[in-house]
Amino acid sequence: MKYIDEFNDPQLARRLLDEIRATATRPWALMEVCGGQTHSIIRHGIDQLLPEQVELIHGPGCPVCVTPLEVIDKALEIAARPGVIFCSFGDMLRVPGTDRDLFRVKGEGGDVRVVYSPLDALELARRNPDREVVFFAIGFETTAPANAMAVHQARRLGLSNFSLLVSHVRVPPAVEAIMTAPECRVQGFLAAGHVCSVMGMAEYPELAERFRVPMVVTGFEPLDILEGIRRAVRQLERGEHRVENAYPRAVREEGNPAAVRMIEEVFEVTDRSWRGIGRIPASGWRLTDAFRAYDAEHRFDVSGIRTEEPAECRAGEVLQGLIKPTECAAFGTTCTPRTPLGATMVSSEGACAAYYLYRRMNALAPQAGGTAPQEVTPVA
Ligand code: SF4
Repeated sequence: MKYIDEFNDPQLARRLLDEIRATATRPWALMEVCGGQTHSIIRHGIDQLLPEQVELIHGPGCPVCVTPLEVIDKALEIAARPGVIFCSFGDMLRVPGTDRDLFRVKGEGGDVRVVYSPLDALELARRNPDREVVFFAIGFETTAPANAMAVHQARRLGLSNFSLLVSHVRVPPAVEAIMTAPECRVQGFLAAGHVCSVMGMAEYPELAERFRVPMVVTGFEPLDILEGIRRAVRQLERGEHRVENAYPRAVREEGNPAAVRMIEEVFEVTDRSWRGIGRIPASGWRLTDAFRAYDAEHRFDVSGIRTEEPAECRAGEVLQGLIKPTECAAFGTTCTPRTPLGATMVSSEGACAAYYLYRRMNALAPQAGGTAPQEVTPVA
């Protein structure tokens, strides 16, 4: 299969690993910002194959995980209202709010539907003119263009029963927040290739220069990730801090100008809270005044929400790369994908979910006192 099998070749992976081993002379800590990359790393055991000097720190790149509890609770409140069709991507349904999740709302009679695109939600609005259709518009720069397009189309079609509950976040301000945190150990970044395929690379040189960190735009297959690591380690060993594109088959310097134009027409930059992390200035998007009529928070009165995070969940530390999921006492015991305490355990891009899927036997073996089956299938 073109562009997938080629980037899983074990021999090439071995060669890249040898090169990383030969290059790394000191300890280096690299952060992959994207949850998709985290899953690929854990699934293929890439972190375990690296020389011990090179540590991978998992960053806050899971869109479902960073959606604030307050917004989840607003979603639950809107979804429970009569006359509303609430649309979301599937993994959002299991994310715990303060006292329930969207599945519970659906079980209690709410019309909650899983869609595969905001345009599916738009089509529902067109077919159900007597219902209010709300789409849960979360995510990074990757999902923003399609959400912007849906609102744009709604206005063009004159649909007044369609709105977005918006919780969009942007990567560059998160990088800044990570680098300015007192406990930060990150020395280099694997920048998410899909984000750069939309936004281009223009926002990164200033960050690389200011924080003196290499930023290597990286894809998602094992060889992509190993190549990103190889380049970042090479820069660190040479004392360099540049932006490099290690994912040229998908990322152009300028990104996708048409998608960026669509985002800029519909959204404007705003401060956003990130679940488990807190408020980050200029780290999100909201609908502009011209599209405010399509903002579900304006259409429905959802003020006065009181939220409460579960005390034992350490997802905030996981999302900032301060602990690995297996260091959380609830991991695999009171917190599992069936009984999640935090979004990081239930999202398809969550770090806790990745460790549960591919590492839980290893992680739980010492507590169980038995010999753990090896769940990790390294790529090389
Ligand atoms: S394992 Fe569960 S409780 Fe622990 S940080 Fe992850 S989501 Fe939260």
